[in-house]
Amino acid sequence: MPQNMHLPHSYKQQFCSGEVALVGTGPGDPDLLTLQAYRFIQQAEVVIYDRLVSKEIMALIPKLTTLIYVGKKQAIHRIPQDNINQLLVDNATQQKKVVRLKGGDPFVFGRGGEEAQFLLDNNIACHIVPGLTAASACSSYVGIPLTHRQVAQSCTFITGHVKDCGSLDLPWHTLSDVKQTVVFYMGVKSLPIISQQLIIAGRDHNTPAALIYKGTTPQQQVYKGCLHSLNDLVKKHQINPPTLIIIGDVVNTFKEHQLANVGYLAP
Ligand code: SAH
Repeated sequence: MPQNMHLPHSYKQQFCSGEVALVGTGPGDPDLLTLQAYRFIQQAEVVIYDRLVSKEIMALIPKLTTLIYVGKKQAIHRIPQDNINQLLVDNATQQKKVVRLKGGDPFVFGRGGEEAQFLLDNNIACHIVPGLTAASACSSYVGIPLTHRQVAQSCTFITGHVKDCGSLDLPWHTLSDVKQTVVFYMGVKSLPIISQQLIIAGRDHNTPAALIYKGTTPQQQVYKGCLHSLNDLVKKHQINPPTLIIIGDVVNTFKEHQLANVGYLAP
């Protein structure tokens, strides 16, 4: 974004010292960052960020801003959420303007609610800056309308993250409607359970399904199949997180040859 670009007036409360802004960056493409997110990033004295924030967005942070990474350290080692909460409080208490940068939207599977709660409990005000959530942006970029007249009347965002005990305790019976699109976040590892449980709940095993890896980024890949073949797709292409799973007839709305992979549908 040009340095001298004139940002429009915002309705948002001013960012003051000693406050925290929970800022959603969208799923990767810096072009999907909101003007509001940009405005907050420009004022940040400390940025606490995790692994889903793209490097192009990190490059927008002013040079003198302190950066603190709280994503995965090694393959599985995460910084406990309690430590992140405390880090936010500690920095705000030092009268800094603290930006907590998150991929997608801070309130969609982003633990933003917990962080806001902890900040408020510690008498710290926080700004919530929404971001485009992965379901919305990634589906658009691969030409899948999440709802489509007469094909899908509703859409559910659901987590496929398994608990430490290995269970995936979800209300499967509410996901059986053929006119409902189901979008799983954090579901690649639990895909065998997801497809099995959806079929048991009554979804046709031939229901169209798509996997979107690193949507909206230059590494974006989209794989299409159906409910019963998803797991084979993951194995064959060795698909890892961050991947979004979309299940429902909307996946086939536009034919493959019309997709140009970047939110652009050619005739
Ligand atoms: N707050 C984020 C979600 C964080 S949970 C949001 O609103 O988008 C992390 C999960 O989001 C990933 O496991 C993946 O399922 C999904 N995700 C985030 N970014 C993605 C991307 N660029 N492409 C595909 N899936 C993505």
